[in-house]
Amino acid sequence: MQLKIYNSLAGEKEIFKPILEGNIGMYVCGPTVYSNVHLGNVRTFLSFDFIYRSLKHLGYKVRYVRNITDAGHLTDDGDVNNDRFVKQTRLEKLEPMEIVQKYTVDFHKVLDLFNLLPPNIEPTATGHIVEQIELTQKLIEKGFAYESNGSVYFDVLEYNRRGLNYGELSKRNIEELFANTRDLDGQGEKKNPQDFALWKKASPAHIMRWNSPWGEGFPGWHLECTAMSTKYLGETFDIHGGGMDLKFPHHECEIAQGKACNDASPVNYWMHANMLTMNSQRMSKSTGNYILPMQLMTGENDFFEKPFHPSIVRFCFLQAHYRSVLDISNDAMLASEKGFIRLMEAIKVLNNIIPNDEKQSGFNLEEWKNKAYDALTDDFNSPVLIAHLFEAVKYIFALNDAKETISTKDFEELKSTLNALVFDVLGLQTIEENNNEKLDQTLKVLIELRNQARKSKNFDLSDQIRDKLLAEGIELKDGRDGTSYVLN
Ligand code: AMP
Ligand code: ZN
Repeated sequence: MQLKIYNSLAGEKEIFKPILEGNIGMYVCGPTVYSNVHLGNVRTFLSFDFIYRSLKHLGYKVRYVRNITDAGHLTDDGDVNNDRFVKQTRLEKLEPMEIVQKYTVDFHKVLDLFNLLPPNIEPTATGHIVEQIELTQKLIEKGFAYESNGSVYFDVLEYNRRGLNYGELSKRNIEELFANTRDLDGQGEKKNPQDFALWKKASPAHIMRWNSPWGEGFPGWHLECTAMSTKYLGETFDIHGGGMDLKFPHHECEIAQGKACNDASPVNYWMHANMLTMNSQRMSKSTGNYILPMQLMTGENDFFEKPFHPSIVRFCFLQAHYRSVLDISNDAMLASEKGFIRLMEAIKVLNNIIPNDEKQSGFNLEEWKNKAYDALTDDFNSPVLIAHLFEAVKYIFALNDAKETISTKDFEELKSTLNALVFDVLGLQTIEENNNEKLDQTLKVLIELRNQARKSKNFDLSDQIRDKLLAEGIELKDGRDGTSYVLN
């Protein structure tokens, strides 16, 4: 079985060859934790979760690194007053690191709801300032960067002068880039408007600041990812992912930094996930065209006619290929809900089917399995994979109606293949499974509150918690290892 991956750098699907047989290093740009993630952000992270799960299922040992951007992401590279963290700090009257903590916790909670696996390493930009300073120094030494008024910029023209090609990923022509922006950019510090910041001098009001050889400042966003990816995956690694909107300038800059520093292309396969739209417009905080995951789940929004469970949202997202735009709508969600319920019903029904050893008719299991895996290995084609799953669903219902037969061997194989594809690879969860987890977490919180009440001798409250739960059929049991519960 050959895995094909669409490589944005090559502009086509390529046969995937890891650097080290059987192993994969994969880096995905993480969130900028200055506000709640919206559903569009979730789509990108979910696309890469599906890709990560698929790679593991295909037998690769994957080291998956996804960072947390907790400094340095400016809304506009030229203007230090547009630091997202500093702006939010003023708005919420919190310390920058309080903002970071608040939204990192939110990010993890949201991804948990959608059943995303955690990455193997989750480095933060502020935890890698030393590495970023070292890289900046190296770039200056090699003549690819220059200091200007306490900031350091990457010299894009010098990069191209040495035969390298700024624009190779985004297919932008540097001459055009220069022609289009020269007049618009009033940045006197840069030699050229396309030069990007590796290190920025902090103005007196800028509260996120670190010492450096160029005075107090903070790192540039593009350099963070180069520092963290190469530290944990090496100077050249297999896969780098992110949303389509990061291709330029973010990923273009990462390539330039990597090549300038190490004389090698940093990444073999660049993968870009496409955008989630709503009302046919890209979901985005800045335009106000967005919905938060919680608003979709609780139904507190004006867009959807009812609440939708995260498992249904996950299923809906996977019904589109990761490289296609997906427009979320009430109708799309309702259709996904129907499909999801039918798929889960089939899995339940399959468990109760009694195989017989008659030769089956109409459904060729081997052929079906091949088609499903062909879809998976054809650039992670989840919609085609799901379409094949529904062929199996049809067959299962026919089996249930005694209109089809299945041998014991095929029955076991169908069950294990279907379970692996649905639960391990697509990462779907039955609604009950997801709810039970939530219930478990809720009860742990209540048990904790009851313990606190007992400690402060508020026995009235602690008894109330116990009795009210009992009335709902949940019995708390106090033992030597603490309190557990039984659902009656
Ligand atoms: P940010 O926190 O702004 O760095 O974004 C986190 C991730 O979400 C990036 O990979 C973006 O490309 C991605 N993203 C932002 N908006 C959307 C959208 N509407 N649909 C899909 N992904 C998005
Ligand atoms: Zn990045």
